[in-house]
Amino acid sequence: MDSPRESCRSVRLRQTMTEAKKTNLGLKAVHSQVLQDVIGRVDTAFAAMKQRGHGFPRFKKFGQFKSFLFPQIGNDAIEGNEINLPKIGKVAINLHRPIPDGFTLKTARLLRKASGWYVALAVQMDVSVPDSMPQGHAVGVDVGLEYFLSTSDGEQVKRPRFFNQLHRQLKLLQRRLNNKQKGSSNRRKLNQKIGRLHEKLGECRRNFHFQLAHHLCDQAGMIFVEALDFRIMAKGMLGKHTLDAGLGQFVNQILPWVCWKRDVYYGKVDPKGTSQECPDCGAVVKKDLSVRVHYCPDCGSTKPRDIASAQVIRNRGLSAVGLIVDEIACGRGLSGALPRQDRVKQETLRSNLEKPTLYA
Ligand SMILES: [Zn+2]
Repeated sequence: MDSPRESCRSVRLRQTMTEAKKTNLGLKAVHSQVLQDVIGRVDTAFAAMKQRGHGFPRFKKFGQFKSFLFPQIGNDAIEGNEINLPKIGKVAINLHRPIPDGFTLKTARLLRKASGWYVALAVQMDVSVPDSMPQGHAVGVDVGLEYFLSTSDGEQVKRPRFFNQLHRQLKLLQRRLNNKQKGSSNRRKLNQKIGRLHEKLGECRRNFHFQLAHHLCDQAGMIFVEALDFRIMAKGMLGKHTLDAGLGQFVNQILPWVCWKRDVYYGKVDPKGTSQECPDCGAVVKKDLSVRVHYCPDCGSTKPRDIASAQVIRNRGLSAVGLIVDEIACGRGLSGALPRQDRVKQETLRSNLEKPTLYA
């Protein structure tokens, strides 16, 4: 396995593994590449600790190690509704969709969730997918807690109710856990129930995020968001709610992925003072968190605060990609012909655009 995270340390650990196998026969029962991957994970954990300066890797006791990886698995591993795992043998699976033509099977990760065992297959094909270009209708997206998100077109989406419902259920079960004796089978059963509820919560959230991302892609050619660090937000006063809504997962993982899939341009903009600026004239309008309406004394613009921020984000995004469009436009003698926003939309200019470097 030649991954970039390969270090002297992991080579040394691997040598120790060979030694350990001589004395610990249990290790021999496990496929060697699976063990190597575990070493790689431990190594990553230590490397991450060194980088951050804190967070000693936690020891995983029985039941806490939730997945393992077969890093090399061939196309012949899947036969009908069975997967052939080295050293384990044939296991019946519920194959959700066939391996698409032309793809080769690379890895298989086995996961244990509260509802059962899963296998995640990674497939590969040699194609290069071009990056999405800035084009079409631009939408700025502001995420927050009062509304899950607000767009520059004036749409506001509330935080879904199911979070609170499931959280209430979860609280109830967790309270019941106090009455159960440690090590008893009733406690184990209750813990399983709690695990399944956690899983359900995660799935509901993920589903909501995906649907929302597709909904945004339906209406836009470019989507701009703020480059916020949600880990810092989560530490603050509103912490629990930030994590619950999974803002970071949505903005940094699911939205870019869906945009890439749908060929919608995704860009991040400088988050500084997006709520303190007037989207219509650019004047600075100071307001603290309690002020929910944006009113600009300079130009008279009045709109909900979050929508105003979303429009500022859209404007910043457009000028970030617009700068390059401007340069190309100058070269073609089109400079100043149209206001910037319209120029970005012009189809003729799209073709040779380089991917702009945005604030990250
Ligand atoms: Zn104004």
